[in-house]
Amino acid sequence: MADVAIVDGRIAAVEPGIPGAAATAIVDATGLLVLPGVIDAHTHTRLASDAEPDRFFQDTQAAAFGGTTTLLAFDNPGTGISEGVAGSAVAAAREWLDRTRGDAAIDVGLSAVITGRQDDPVAELPALADLGIASAKCFMVYDFGVDDTRLAALLRASVAAGVLIQVHGEDRTMLETGVADQLAAGEDGPRGHARSRPPACEASGTRRAIGLARQTGAPIYLVHVSCADAAHAIATAREDGQRVYGETCPHYLSLDEGRYLLSRSEAMTAVISPPLRPSADRDHLWDALGDGRLDLVASDHVPDRLAIEKLDRGQPFTEVSNGAPGVETLLAVLYGMGVAGGRITVERLVGLLATQPARLLGMPAKGAVEVGRDADLVLFDPTARRVITQSGLHHTSDFTPYEGMEVAGVVRQVISRGRVIVRDGRFLGIRGHGRYLARSVACLA
Ligand SMILES: [Zn+2]
Repeated sequence: MADVAIVDGRIAAVEPGIPGAAATAIVDATGLLVLPGVIDAHTHTRLASDAEPDRFFQDTQAAAFGGTTTLLAFDNPGTGISEGVAGSAVAAAREWLDRTRGDAAIDVGLSAVITGRQDDPVAELPALADLGIASAKCFMVYDFGVDDTRLAALLRASVAAGVLIQVHGEDRTMLETGVADQLAAGEDGPRGHARSRPPACEASGTRRAIGLARQTGAPIYLVHVSCADAAHAIATAREDGQRVYGETCPHYLSLDEGRYLLSRSEAMTAVISPPLRPSADRDHLWDALGDGRLDLVASDHVPDRLAIEKLDRGQPFTEVSNGAPGVETLLAVLYGMGVAGGRITVERLVGLLATQPARLLGMPAKGAVEVGRDADLVLFDPTARRVITQSGLHHTSDFTPYEGMEVAGVVRQVISRGRVIVRDGRFLGIRGHGRYLARSVACLA
């Protein structure tokens, strides 16, 4: 038990018995856990548009409701970035920075997306680093993905440039074969989506990316690891001394492939990539988080909508947007399923959601309740219970994959750099309070 003193938005002391006489405000956290604010290292928040001027702000506000005080966004195609910047990673990043300035409720950073359509992203890596963009993600699949030659060149240049390369690891050839097979068999719904990209497809892509990183001597970060095979590939490389970091997501830890057996329209909400896996994979991921074979958990938030991207018009799975929302439920699912579920300790939860993302992705002022760090805190009631429902969320999606899930743990207050931004389900923050975080990563050294 200790008190936390906050001065000018930073933690000034953490010790028992700090005298309150000089304080301008005192927050009583009796009976609550005082956690560092959650860092969501993987989101695809949409940019504001004329039609939806609150789109970005609202998802940062939703994150705050969930206990997240920092998020990193990607600027991939589909997030609202204009077609005019398709040829340049730096131009895309600058547009993202321009269009989010002064809009966020919480602190935000950007991870660039490197595509196969950009002219010379390898040469642009140093300029990205200069903008404080210390991580960049490549997709090994999708029409905007990169081929292995480009991935290898990026990895080779990444250490000197100061940009950690993140990879969506799936095998393009296996995926294309899988898609063709499913469509030929008449399996064109969500079940076909899952079958077209089995664990072996993810494991193959993951292994190849790790192999390229090994050859080039670069660290590599695998996003959204969903299955035992891919986690095993990461663990094996680490045992060999390679610097490979692995992330997984709440949906792979709490849901399973049974979703694809639901009706076509219900299963549509589970069209994500990689797909949901058998429950044995889910159990393996928890074990890997528990013993440190995986490093962190992030939401992979995609604010798709039932009424738009996920509408069942009888279209084949190849024409359904891949993604599901999660920006507001990261802590709820991890605490409820993980800590209250007896799978990880609360200390490990803090590591996975705050300390590790801060350390790996270059946010030294974030991620721990320690003197000198930003006063980003979550006051969390571990004994209260809640049922997650769309009607109780604030994100810009119109569904949640966790509808009806009952979990232990409720966010009571959220403090961002010393300012209370959420209290008892009410938003008390300000649009534009959130700052852009220029990052540089230490793990490349
Ligand atoms: Zn993603």
